[in-house]
Amino acid sequence: MRIQVQQVNVPLTYDDATVLQRVGRKVGCEPGSLSNPTVVRRSLDARPRNPEPVYVLTVEVDLNLPALPHCAKSPGIEVLVESSEDNPPSVRVQSGTGTTPRVVVVGAGPAGLMAAYQLALAGARPLLIERGDDAAGRAPKVAEFWNQGILDPESNVLYGEGGAGLFSDGKLTARSKERGRIRDFMKLLHSCGAGENVLIEAEPHVGSDALLTILPRLRERIIAAGGEVRFRSRLDAVIIESGRLRALVVNGKEIDCTHCVLAVGHSARDVYQMLATQGVSLQPKPFAVGVRLELPQSAIDRAQYGRFAGSPLLGAASFRLTRREENGIRSCYSFCMCPGGKVISCASEPDLFTTNGMSYSTRSLPTGNAAFLVPVSPSDYPEHPIPALAGVEFQRQLERKAFTSAGGGYKVPACRLVDFLAQRVSPELPEGGSCPYAVPIEFRNILPNFVTTTLEKAIPPMLKELNGVRPDTAVLYAPETRSSSPLWITRNPEGESTSTRGLYPAGEGAGYAGGIVSSALDGMRAAEHILTRISEGAGVPTGV
Ligand SMILES: Cc1cc2nc3c(=O)[nH]c(=O)nc-3n(C[C@H](O)[C@H](O)[C@H](O)COP(=O)(O)OP(=O)(O)OC[C@H]3O[C@@H](n4cnc5c(N)ncnc54)[C@H](O)[C@@H]3O)c2cc1C
Repeated sequence: MRIQVQQVNVPLTYDDATVLQRVGRKVGCEPGSLSNPTVVRRSLDARPRNPEPVYVLTVEVDLNLPALPHCAKSPGIEVLVESSEDNPPSVRVQSGTGTTPRVVVVGAGPAGLMAAYQLALAGARPLLIERGDDAAGRAPKVAEFWNQGILDPESNVLYGEGGAGLFSDGKLTARSKERGRIRDFMKLLHSCGAGENVLIEAEPHVGSDALLTILPRLRERIIAAGGEVRFRSRLDAVIIESGRLRALVVNGKEIDCTHCVLAVGHSARDVYQMLATQGVSLQPKPFAVGVRLELPQSAIDRAQYGRFAGSPLLGAASFRLTRREENGIRSCYSFCMCPGGKVISCASEPDLFTTNGMSYSTRSLPTGNAAFLVPVSPSDYPEHPIPALAGVEFQRQLERKAFTSAGGGYKVPACRLVDFLAQRVSPELPEGGSCPYAVPIEFRNILPNFVTTTLEKAIPPMLKELNGVRPDTAVLYAPETRSSSPLWITRNPEGESTSTRGLYPAGEGAGYAGGIVSSALDGMRAAEHILTRISEGAGVPTGV
């Protein structure tokens, strides 16, 4: 019989023999009765109060005994039954035999790529269109933007193959309970070149450099399964007749389309505007804005690992900090921590600027950063003739002020934390920051009062939770405006737009996902909804 055993603690340098010995101890049998161990989940426990850092494993293993020992009948130990999660998609559609147009997926971020992959696997021959370049063509555009301040509004840090997920930290954290779907996604990434850690780590990380090779392989899989991918292909408009999608306008040309996964991300503000004009249902959504805070990674490691800090077996440490709303001061939380990473500038529209963070697979840079965000709701910003677009306009205003205050050229407004708190600006920033294009700026010229007041009150006590981190080493960068979508493209439980039949908004831009994994999963769901609809008789897709 094969069993699964949770909470198996092993040293960081474990091998199979150690795993079998520790599992045997938990199960109450000799290690010799166990064989074929597979680690299916691994998390690090390096809290300084432990005698030594350990991995906490979930292990699947063959138990060569007729029955479980009596003491093994406890929580965390179970006999495995064969899983049905590896079954291929249950719905298959034939290509080229029907009369309806081909399914189109718009956007090659995590949501669009996974939607196209699922559709292709099921035989639907999807067409995936992406306004930006493929990963290889995108990299020099991004380098030009960072080094010379030249923005290509169609192919940049946010647009192009991989979407906002390409030049990212590449952490694949998932809060979803859909374990089977998450495993399918991780297995696919692994088969495209991601390390084995994505299959087992509780908080896997790939890094931007690895994604640059993994995502083109995913594209090749889509093409091999019958899909088509077109870069530099921008959706300009949707054509809706009697509440149903009839066609898309792509690079000025009409393409018949009755089933479309719209996975354009939350930076495609021109798409939001176009949808609003065409009467697609949109709704304002709360989001958050703030700053990115950078610290020496060695200080973060010491705070999190204590005396274990510096061990080559431990990766760069991460943190998550929150502060509740108190005495009329809003809540604040850290977000998208990038250990051993750098602060980057982002833009997708000319003369607007926002910050973010990224890392490489080794996470070995001497700095770590995280956003510190303050929740924003529609009552915080001026009304707009189209209420759902008011949040977008609010983001734009902050981003415009940031661009102008830093003197143009997409330089990064920055400020030492101690200066921010003292409401002054020092002419120099400390040495060793990760962002070479930073200029000292008074953030009160960029961010609204309710945000700066919250950050003043919240950041110092939050940093106290990181033992030994000195506030005078912290540098802030601003504004962080694109942590999540400011609106929902509303959809029904079948994933279809509540106003427009045939339109399936998916991923972060639809407002129903945030992060690489949740967006990828949402794209997979959108594909399944379409496949179900098609197989129910709405028609079988053919070529465009
Ligand atoms: C710098 C940075 C670091 C991040 N780090 C992490 C991280 O470590 N972990 C994590 O989970 N999340 C991270 N995120 C968030 C994550 O990248 C997003 O949640 C995720 O990429 C959203 O996926 P998506 O497919 O919904 O949208 P996107 O990734 O935004 O992709 C949308 C795609 O649609 C395309 N598009 C837009 N408009 C059109 C159009 N009109 N026609 C054709 N194509 C169009 C865009 O070019 C883009 O490629 C990070 C984001 C950024 C910006």
